[in-house]
Amino acid sequence: MKRSARAIIDADALRHNLRRCREAAPNSLAMAVIKANAYGHNMLKTAETLSHANGFAVSCIQEALELRQARFIHPILVLQGFSNLQGMKAAAEHRLRMVIHDRHQLELLDSAPASIKLDVALKLDSGMHRLGFPVEQAHHLFERLGKHPGIKPTPWLMTHMACADEPDNPHTHQQLQQFARYTDGLQATRSIGNSASILGWPQTHVNWVRPGIMLYGSSPFVDGDARRDGLQPVMTLVAPLVSIHTIAKGESIGYGASWVCPEDTRAGVVAIGYADGYPRHAPSGTPVWVNGKETRLLGRVSMDMVVIDLTAIEARVGDQVELWGKHVTVDRVARAAGTISYELLCNAGNLCEHKYI
Ligand code: PLP
Repeated sequence: MKRSARAIIDADALRHNLRRCREAAPNSLAMAVIKANAYGHNMLKTAETLSHANGFAVSCIQEALELRQARFIHPILVLQGFSNLQGMKAAAEHRLRMVIHDRHQLELLDSAPASIKLDVALKLDSGMHRLGFPVEQAHHLFERLGKHPGIKPTPWLMTHMACADEPDNPHTHQQLQQFARYTDGLQATRSIGNSASILGWPQTHVNWVRPGIMLYGSSPFVDGDARRDGLQPVMTLVAPLVSIHTIAKGESIGYGASWVCPEDTRAGVVAIGYADGYPRHAPSGTPVWVNGKETRLLGRVSMDMVVIDLTAIEARVGDQVELWGKHVTVDRVARAAGTISYELLCNAGNLCEHKYI
């Protein structure tokens, strides 16, 4: 589907952000998280750009198989693991490391044909309470898997942090303590940290780290600042101006007449809306960038248009407006819209055409 908005992807910035990960966690291997079409950045092109990563993590087997079909030979971790025999067969055939997080998977392993031998990562729930076995069962499960004929030696151990995006949150300290306490003495490769852990929690820098959002140049921290974190924005979302006109003082703009002009206002209509993944909840005042200046949204976001304030800006129909990117960070737009950068990147990145530069 061709529309006017474009997601321009800066390959050098992606590579820079992986270097930043390695600089922050120099003793860990980097497993680039490229699930959900690389957070909307195009999974295969991102994998190619980050081909010097030590491995890739994806959500599901379908994503992993797409990587293998494109001839990526890296270690691949499948975060949701398998849920049926077909998935187990594909994992064995394509050397995918499957996360084991649920009893159902143990039962499948017990009933699988002897020919299936899997690489696995045992996911332990240290306090996130999403996927994983209770961390207290670490020794028991590790031994059980270690002896299992369907498992190649040796299972990895992994966990995931719930609150690493908040500096010094006691929940993270507790999760780390629980993980250390119950996995103590087990001879295994470990993986704990996501982006926030990589940049903020050196205790999580074990064998493998799993950077996601930081690779795409957005700060993983609540109220974070990507530049301060040493990250470079990767996606620049642009769309053209399709109309410019002056609205008289006291007149309103857009659905619901939610913005009333406090003075005569030069308004520009930009060809992007929620159908392109721009957040419907971005309010008046959300920053945008045009022709070297920052300005703001006026009125509600429509399906395929937004209105911006051009009162103090030289601009013509056809000029490109940056909705987020190098000048207005996606983090600022996400905060204005009451959401997180992950959602904006996935939505717009999966709906707009890409241009890799
Ligand atoms: N590890 C796991 C298990 C995840 O689910 C994710 C992403 O959701 C990541 C790592 C990467 O997280 P982030 O994008 O916050 O770095």
